[in-house]
This record gives sequence, structure tokens and C-alpha cells, in this order.
Amino acid sequence: MERFNNKKIILSFLIAIPFFFGGFIPNETMMPAFRMKKIVLDAGHGGSDPGNIGSKVREKDINLAVTLLVGKYLKENMPDVEVIYTRDDDSFPTLKQRPNIANINKADLFVSIHSNSAPNKSAFGTETFVMGTKHFEANFDIVKRENSVILLEENYAEEYEGFDPTSPESYMLFNLTQKAYIGNSITLADHIETQFRDRVGRKSRGVKQGPFYVLWTPSMPSVLVELGFLSNTEEEKFLMSQAGKEYMASAIYRSIKAYKEQIEGN
Ligand SMILES: [Zn+2]
Repeated sequence: MERFNNKKIILSFLIAIPFFFGGFIPNETMMPAFRMKKIVLDAGHGGSDPGNIGSKVREKDINLAVTLLVGKYLKENMPDVEVIYTRDDDSFPTLKQRPNIANINKADLFVSIHSNSAPNKSAFGTETFVMGTKHFEANFDIVKRENSVILLEENYAEEYEGFDPTSPESYMLFNLTQKAYIGNSITLADHIETQFRDRVGRKSRGVKQGPFYVLWTPSMPSVLVELGFLSNTEEEKFLMSQAGKEYMASAIYRSIKAYKEQIEGN
């Protein structure tokens, strides 16, 4: 009888240990799980800055239409995620203000949406950039074009402390502040390019690195999407169509959803 009681006491004690220690032993499994709660969507250009100009359409209008659709799909299907736009109309937030909006709101993701252009009219396809300087000489034209937006701002010389978007030397300033986020940025960029290629049937030019000003300062994973070339007649026509915009926006939405599930470990 006594033995049985002892056994019972020992058993109760063993059962109680995890509860007892669980209260104050830090344990990885007890840390609150990461949840992606806020996304900043950035429609490139706007207002006095049209961006690239196709034969019939301006980049700023395509970017805004697709960005608003991505936001709409996110709000409809992921109500637990807050969507913040850097612009939801034809205004012109500066290249400094755009990532600032994401930092001030402590967003978990920053997605900048653009459309491309090239002197070679046959160039077409999508590409998604993460912040980085690896092989950036190959993409210098597009980097220069996107960053040159600051030249439209008054006082840009003071605002950007001598940064000259047209000079390769200026990019020495771009240290790897995004290094902590590069892994997750590439994960999202991979999802986006895969979706464009496999679900929308676009030509993917791949995931690339570029020192884009807008990707320099966000304190969160960040990507810059190029939806296609407005200098290519076929691609311009596709991006101008309502179906084209919806396909591209839903591809970006599905990529964000897949990325969220992946990093939240679902
Ligand atoms: Zn652009």
C-alpha cells in the first residue's frame, strides 16, 4: 500500500515538472509565433513622375491599377493582414517617403510595383529585385532609371546627401542594410517569379539584385516587381488589359499568401 502511494507521489511529481518549470524556463516553442500583420504596397511613380512611357500608357497608371488590385485581393482573402498603400491615387510620394511609411508603420513586408522599359523593343518579361549590389552593373540601366526619380524632387541634393543616381560611384553608399532580410526577400521574390511564369504564362527573367533607393531603407523584407516592358507592344497591350492586370495582381497576391504561410510555418 505504502509502495503504491510512493509511486503515486513520484508520478504526480513527474507530471507536475513541466508545468512548474514551464512557467519560467525560456523555451523556443513558447515564444509567440511570428505573424505577418502588415504589408505596405508601393505603386511606383505617380503625379508629376509618369515613370516609363509606352506607346499608349504611362507606367504610373499600370503600377497603381495593379497595386490596388493586389490590395483588394489581400483585404478580401486575408482580413487579418493590414494593407497600407504609399499612394492610392495619382500622388507622388518621394523615394525617401515610401520606405519611411513602411518603417513608421512597422510593416512586415514592403512590395514596390513597377513596369519596365528598354531601348530594345523586343525585350519582354517579368523580373523581381531584392536589395543588393551583386552583378548590379548588368542591371544598371534600370537601377539608374528608377532611382533618377529623385532628380524630379526639389532640394534633392540636400535630401539625398549628394547621392547621384546616374553615377556608379554613388552606389558605394549602399551598404547592405537589407542583409538581415535578404533571405526572406528572395523567398518572396521566388514565389512571385514562379507565379508569373507558371500560373500567368509570362516569361520570367528571374530574381535579381539591384541597389534601388526604395529598397535601401525598409527595415523588413522588401522586393521591387517589374511587371513587364511597356516598350514591348505585346506586353504593353497585355498590361493595359483588365484581364492582364487581374492575372498579375492575383499572382502577386498568391505569392504573398504562400510566403506568409511559409514563414509562419503553416
Ligand atoms: Zn518604375
